[in-house]
Amino acid sequence: EAAAERPRLVSDADLATIWLTNPERRLFGRSGPKKLDVALYYARVGDVMLPHLFGRPVSLVRCPSGKVEECFFQRHAFTGMPPSLGTFELERADEENRTYLTIEDVRGYLALPQFGIIEFHSWGALRERLETPDRITLDLDPGDDVPWREVVEAALHIRGELAALGLVPFVKTTGGKGLHVLVPIEPRRRWKSVHAITGAIAERLARANPRTFVTTMAKRARAGRIFLDYHRNARTATAVAPYSLRARTNLPVSTPIHWADLESVDASADLNYSTVPGLVAASGDPWAELDAHARDLPDVPAN
Ligand code: ATP
Ligand code: MN
Ligand code: MN
Repeated sequence: EAAAERPRLVSDADLATIWLTNPERRLFGRSGPKKLDVALYYARVGDVMLPHLFGRPVSLVRCPSGKVEECFFQRHAFTGMPPSLGTFELERADEENRTYLTIEDVRGYLALPQFGIIEFHSWGALRERLETPDRITLDLDPGDDVPWREVVEAALHIRGELAALGLVPFVKTTGGKGLHVLVPIEPRRRWKSVHAITGAIAERLARANPRTFVTTMAKRARAGRIFLDYHRNARTATAVAPYSLRARTNLPVSTPIHWADLESVDASADLNYSTVPGLVAASGDPWAELDAHARDLPDVPAN
């Protein structure tokens, strides 16, 4: 599908609202990208990113000083935040602060780089139906010594297993060491059930391929293997959002990829703030049709 045929979400009038102090401030070192680069990046990818972000609870990683060790995770409303950012009160929250954030409009999104926001993390559920997720994430977390090629092979294997369950999986880089396999689902089941089913799927994969996968969090168990982190599918958990920058050297992007192109990705770091906008302008969003592929998550028999 041609990029030009898709509706534009970010208008010139929206872009004109962007306002930045210290646009030249460097991030993560003296030769690093600038605060202005973050604002320009999000302006350029808004049309593809926002459909995945609108209406979802989000957490933000903020790095107002530009120093990586001073970045922090912002889960709740904050003083001075743009008024166009959405908030809502979460029922049955674990923490005392129950005010969560959502992206409700283009200008709220465009206003965020001014506040030092680098990363967006989102829920696999919409605010309007918070208790029944519509996307699941299998987070592939390789041990230190697992080569990138093996992570790619593992994701391709998981794709086949999920397809055999009648699901339609999608893949993105994380900007870090692993990959995220994401599956759109019909929002019928509640978090507990979705978490349990994704756990059963992960256990089954690990049982069939014990030399490749583990499902225990212990660092020791991960040596040479890939931790299948299915806990992104618990209520209030987040995963980095598609097209989010990552707060590290050269601002890598968590980038949606066509399965057919996955093997041609040499390193996650190649997909970053300076390369991804051009790819998106040329080819559009590989995940544009994602919601149309939602299926009911099957009851996976106990292992
Ligand atoms: P990688 O490929 O390097 O694993 P990742 O984004 O998957 O990249 P993880 O460490 O596996 O990184 O984190 C998974 C998710 O946990 C993140 O995407 C994020 O949404 C959530 N997370 C990370 N840091 C925090 C934090 N400080 N507080 C709460 N949730 C966090
Ligand atoms: Mn991960
Ligand atoms: Mn993880």
